[in-house]
Amino acid sequence: MSKMHETPPDEGEAPAEDTPEASTSGWSAAPDGGRPQGSVCTHASTLTRPPSTVPSAVCPACVALGHDWVRLRRCVACGAVGCCDSSRGRHAHAHYEATGHPVVFSLAHDESWAWCYVDEVFLIEA
Ligand SMILES: [Zn+2]
Ligand SMILES: [Zn+2]
Ligand SMILES: [Zn+2]
Repeated sequence: MSKMHETPPDEGEAPAEDTPEASTSGWSAAPDGGRPQGSVCTHASTLTRPPSTVPSAVCPACVALGHDWVRLRRCVACGAVGCCDSSRGRHAHAHYEATGHPVVFSLAHDESWAWCYVDEVFLIEA
């Protein structure tokens, strides 16, 4: 005849580690010295991770026109690719004006930020 006898450990159990849940969005407005009241983007919370870079991405509007572009932006809302404001066509901006999609990711290799046309702020991933 046996009787289970449980001996509680002397050392108190370590409290369960509180791992902070990764918030749905790690994006926030980049500091901007030109804005005394601070940069705020109401769209940052809607952003997801940037899509993997598309090496063969092109600005379709520029291709159609036979233009060159400087850098490419990718619309967060619909994935449309357009060229940056330093480019001749500024098609990312044109896309924003046509659709109201506020945020684009940079597709440039040396850039890892998003830009909000509405709030005019850079968004960086925390
Ligand atoms: Zn915004
Ligand atoms: Zn373009
Ligand atoms: Zn779009």
